[in-house]
Amino acid sequence: MELDEICKELYVKGCEIKKDEYLKSHTSLRVGGKTPYMFFPKTKRIFIETLILLKEKDIPFKIIGGGTNLIVTDDDLNFVMVSTKYLTGVKEKKLMNGQKLLVDSECGVYLASLSHLVSERGYSGLEFACGIPGTVGGAIYMNAGAYGGEMKDVVIEAEVFDLSDLKIKILRNKELEFSYRKSILQDLPLVLLSSKQILCKDNLNNIKSRIEDFSIKRYSKQPIEMPSAGSTFKRPKPDFYVGTVLESLGLKGYSIGDAQISTKHAGFIINKGNATFGQVKALIDYVKKVIKEKYQVDLKVEPEIWE
Ligand SMILES: Cc1cc2nc3c(=O)[nH]c(=O)nc-3n(C[C@H](O)[C@H](O)[C@H](O)COP(=O)(O)OP(=O)(O)OC[C@H]3O[C@@H](n4cnc5c(N)ncnc54)[C@H](O)[C@@H]3O)c2cc1C
Repeated sequence: MELDEICKELYVKGCEIKKDEYLKSHTSLRVGGKTPYMFFPKTKRIFIETLILLKEKDIPFKIIGGGTNLIVTDDDLNFVMVSTKYLTGVKEKKLMNGQKLLVDSECGVYLASLSHLVSERGYSGLEFACGIPGTVGGAIYMNAGAYGGEMKDVVIEAEVFDLSDLKIKILRNKELEFSYRKSILQDLPLVLLSSKQILCKDNLNNIKSRIEDFSIKRYSKQPIEMPSAGSTFKRPKPDFYVGTVLESLGLKGYSIGDAQISTKHAGFIINKGNATFGQVKALIDYVKKVIKEKYQVDLKVEPEIWE
């Protein structure tokens, strides 16, 4: 079956499809080349059908949530994309006389929206995520975290689609093998469909003040007004803050073309306008080289690089 025929079949089932779509329109760094097709399934069922069809027909594909943790080549891509944009269902259930709240969210729900939703209801646990851009799917994939919290602390189970046997499975928290910016989704061909988070009742004013505190810290320190893919490097050891080290080396503002080490927070590479993938990559390699020479430390990039 040709890709065009697959498109027809999925379109009829209710999948929005875009041809020759540039990923730079879908990534927060505003970098990324052209994919032959981008699929936007409207429901979880159509999402699964899309995955099955692509898998069975051996068409290479990748999943995209918010695109906030990706650095993508400018070259034409040899894979199609499946977006979780429309998978935004959320179900809530109070447990233990309202002392706990169970939220079941589809993978395309924005994590910050979920954080605000549960916080406004007076439930604590997702305050750390109030300013993390991106979706629940990307957050579980990365075990996203901030200000002492991470997905590992709130997710009780995840519904995944296993691309190796085309079956839906439920993985408990432990089975998700969360660690620093990592989960089992990075090692196995598993697509997150939805996940359940558990939150605890708390004083609304305390929740609000934590959110305010985290938001002020984020807005004052991070270049959220500029295109970026978040923190560029993983912390190589607990006390090694890459941004602080780069600042001490005088590298704030260092640029290659339009790719720049942010003047606000040296841990972020930003796109000043028309940065290319090559410029971002060259800047990453330069930083890695400097850190290796000065501290004998090997930096690892936090966002995924698709090249
Ligand atoms: C300004 C800024 C600030 C940020 N701050 C933080 C922070 O404080 N803490 C933090 O941890 N991160 C932070 N990030 C990084 C990023 O927002 C998070 O990692 C986020 O969780 C990524 O989600 P996403 O939906 O954008 O994932 P995407 O970028 O779309 O995808 C990332 C990876 O997840 C995979 N993926 C996405 N959805 C699914 C799914 N349903 N099933 C399987 N795989 C999937 C993709 O295939 C890809 O491999 C920041 C980013 C920016 C731009």
